[in-house]
Amino acid sequence: MITVTIWNEYRQDKTVESIRKIYPDGIHTALKNGLESPDLNIRTTVLDDPQQGLSDEILDSTDVLIWWAHAAHHELTDENVRRIVEKVHSGMGLIVLHSGHYSKIFQALCGTSCSLKWRESGEKERLWCIQPFHPIARGVPETFVVPQTEMYGERFDIPEDARIIYMSWYEGGEVFRSGITLERGYGKIFYFSPGHESFPIYYQPEILQIISNAIRWAAPQCRGVINAPKVPNLEPIRSKE
Ligand code: ZN
Repeated sequence: MITVTIWNEYRQDKTVESIRKIYPDGIHTALKNGLESPDLNIRTTVLDDPQQGLSDEILDSTDVLIWWAHAAHHELTDENVRRIVEKVHSGMGLIVLHSGHYSKIFQALCGTSCSLKWRESGEKERLWCIQPFHPIARGVPETFVVPQTEMYGERFDIPEDARIIYMSWYEGGEVFRSGITLERGYGKIFYFSPGHESFPIYYQPEILQIISNAIRWAAPQCRGVINAPKVPNLEPIRSKE
């Protein structure tokens, strides 16, 4: 059983009528419904929950944290950023979605600005898998279309060790590294860009399949505290004598 926490800022999808029409119970609920599976124990939390939805009880029992945020990145406390980064270093999986590219947690884990170009145009996006044998791509066609999306374009300021799983091409001409993996400490991270709140992207089967695969991929295989221990020598050091 993998315990998944879907964390959503839950602001625009709570207050903006046109977005409420697409996600009447919030993006987190749509994702939960779309990802339900017998081997997953999925719960949702939101920014306005006690302790910003990130109590010790929740974080300590989370195998994979899914993160959707946009308008309130700055509200996440630095202490919660530190706690999440530490959890990832210790093995918790992290899936950062769409505008989460600019979240403090993703920036902290990347060590870069994570900036990109964007355009809210409702244009077509074509995704291409360039690692067809990667577990995140299992059961998903090599290429598929999101009919209407927000354009996210290069240059995406992410570190050089990001492994590209999906590339996107947009009707308006740009390209983007839309699905990338990183490893930090013992933790695995997947960033996936589709998911703009004004389009029903989290109901699309290919998108849900990729996130679902990413949960299994990011689930911790090993956990441990990252520290810098002082250690005794295992064998005699003769050159000192
Ligand atoms: Zn967006």
